[in-house]
Amino acid sequence: MVKTRKKERADILVVNANELITLKGGSTSPRTRMQMQNLGIIHKGALAVKNDRVVAVGKTSEVKMKYRAENVISASGKIVMPGFVDPHTHLVFAGSREDEFKMSVEGASYMDILESGGGILKTVKKTRRATVEELVESGFKTLDAMLEHGTTTVEAKSGYGLTVKDELKILRVIKRLNQLHTVDVIPTFMGAHAIPPEYRNKPQQYVDLVVMKMIPQMVAEKLAVFCDVFCEKDVFGLAQSRRVLVAGKNHKLKLKIHADEMSKLGGAELAADVGAVSAEHLLFSSDDGLKAMAEKGVIAVLLPAAAFSLMIGRYADARKMIDFGVPVALGTDFNPSCWVESQQLIIAFACHFMKLTPAEAITATTINAAHAIKKADEIGSLEVGKKADVIILDVPNHKFLGYRFGVNLINKVIKNGRIVFDKEADRSKFFS
Ligand code: ZN
Repeated sequence: MVKTRKKERADILVVNANELITLKGGSTSPRTRMQMQNLGIIHKGALAVKNDRVVAVGKTSEVKMKYRAENVISASGKIVMPGFVDPHTHLVFAGSREDEFKMSVEGASYMDILESGGGILKTVKKTRRATVEELVESGFKTLDAMLEHGTTTVEAKSGYGLTVKDELKILRVIKRLNQLHTVDVIPTFMGAHAIPPEYRNKPQQYVDLVVMKMIPQMVAEKLAVFCDVFCEKDVFGLAQSRRVLVAGKNHKLKLKIHADEMSKLGGAELAADVGAVSAEHLLFSSDDGLKAMAEKGVIAVLLPAAAFSLMIGRYADARKMIDFGVPVALGTDFNPSCWVESQQLIIAFACHFMKLTPAEAITATTINAAHAIKKADEIGSLEVGKKADVIILDVPNHKFLGYRFGVNLINKVIKNGRIVFDKEADRSKFFS
């Protein structure tokens, strides 16, 4: 007598995906060069989810043979992929800067805006005045928008407080958001984001404050995983940036650096030298700096929406970085002068302005972005044992990402094994 094997029970089965984009096999190191094109696509693919984990990935026929579930989702005609990871955001701030946006559209320079009392220091002023509750509320709304657009994990930086008290306040807000919201939030301390007005003529003393007061207090409260610095002409120079990063490292923080965004200062070289996990922006980096990054495996986190918002018509040279073997990731750089929550739009910008292929841009917003926040063992690909952070998109193949833009392509978002956004359920409300 043939014994029929009993099927195992899963919570959710997603079946018949036109393309199941697994990105399998990239958990140990970020993808470089040609590997960035390899999405590990399974046609007619399926996956099974149990609790908060992926328990099976494969052809629909195979997965269905082994698993059954009450909740079976058809992804016929759609693509299924890991949730987007956004490795660079300035999530927590108060107020907005739309007046400056209008000024820049009318031709005002960055300096004109600063002189009119605008720019980052305007946001600092408002953020210092804001309460924890107010900041949690606005951060929560931003995370909602990100989640609806398919982002299931984000990195978030402090840096609009610039006092011990206010930097700690922002990091506590980030911690609270991570507890309250479905989206996972990875905290980065960035007290060295700008020189506050009260230290305008004594920047060295501000660096002392960051290194001697802020970092130790923030580490004592376990409020950050990463330490970041804005290394830029007229902000924090190379020596000051190095000091902040070394202090972070000595306190067991991992390092990130805003490098060469507006000028060629040597930020890429510094990132390689201090062993940073990632260097961000990199519009003006030297070839030597990029090669040093490739050699040390420093991830380039590129932020085309920030370059777009700067309106200088220049973007990071992603093709060169990929040729050099630098692993590339993409983020929104969500902040009050670059107000964008959608990694789908970032993919479109990366394809149009930096000539990444859709496949490379998908790699850069999933597995490589997960590496940029040191979470690739948990997220960024769809593999057995990894977290069930899964998105289903209303497009027939992955080349539609970047090609079709300006609308939300998300059909469903599964976060920690639960459906948290469902366009169809939402739509049905209008017809009930
Ligand atoms: Zn930034």
